[in-house]
Amino acid sequence: MRIVIKIGTSTLAHQTGHLNIRRVEEICKVISDVKNAGHQVILVSSGAIGMGIGKLGLPGRPDDIPTKQASAAVGQCELMYTYDKLFSEYNHTVGQLLITGADIENEVRHTNFSNTINRLIQLDAIPIINENDTVATDEIVIGDNDTLAAIVAKSVSADLLIVMSDIDGLYTADPHKDLNATLIHTVTAVDDRISALAGTNGTKLGTGGMITKLKAAKICMDSGCDMVITNGENPLNIYDILDNKPIGTRFIAKAD
Ligand code: GLU
Repeated sequence: MRIVIKIGTSTLAHQTGHLNIRRVEEICKVISDVKNAGHQVILVSSGAIGMGIGKLGLPGRPDDIPTKQASAAVGQCELMYTYDKLFSEYNHTVGQLLITGADIENEVRHTNFSNTINRLIQLDAIPIINENDTVATDEIVIGDNDTLAAIVAKSVSADLLIVMSDIDGLYTADPHKDLNATLIHTVTAVDDRISALAGTNGTKLGTGGMITKLKAAKICMDSGCDMVITNGENPLNIYDILDNKPIGTRFIAKAD
């Protein structure tokens, strides 16, 4: 299977913006194992801005663009250093791709980045993708990595996108506010009823929230790729998802 795994900032970093070492180590171990089992894996990793905030000792997520971009420049190094180090322990090689909306819009650039991902996979490396936050301004920004991950999944004809988040999946109501909220295990269409279930919130350090995840699910389903939202707290969930166990919320791809 060709699998895209999106890792959110809240999965990678503590609230402080510093690396959640135990979590990241577990994730890299599971992904290495999944790869050893013969699957192709592409990572879309957030965390550049969040980790930059931590490393630069900023009090919180900055509002101004230059500070966000400076944070991303610092945090992206930390991210790739960490992935390179941890995947090397399991004999896996990583490659970094940083892209913006302009690379998606422009057909030639889009083909180029898809080709690079495909070549990295042929070479048995793990492509690790993030938005190029240091240069992405309003006109060219993709804006969130849920959407970016879905675009990547579509571009390289992935079979599955796993979105690792700080929530178990899509609920019938906001589980932080409503004790009766229950997890929805399977979604076959992102219709008005499902869209109405998305709140608005992202986290203190990250960007997403359920709205961007539903948008991502729609892109995936329309392009023949399943998407699963799962809680990044337990990286072992990845094994169960690949075994088709009812973990998180699975959005089923439209049949051709
Ligand atoms: N590209 C952003 C970062 O690395 C994250 C965007 C997102 O989480 O949706 O900080």
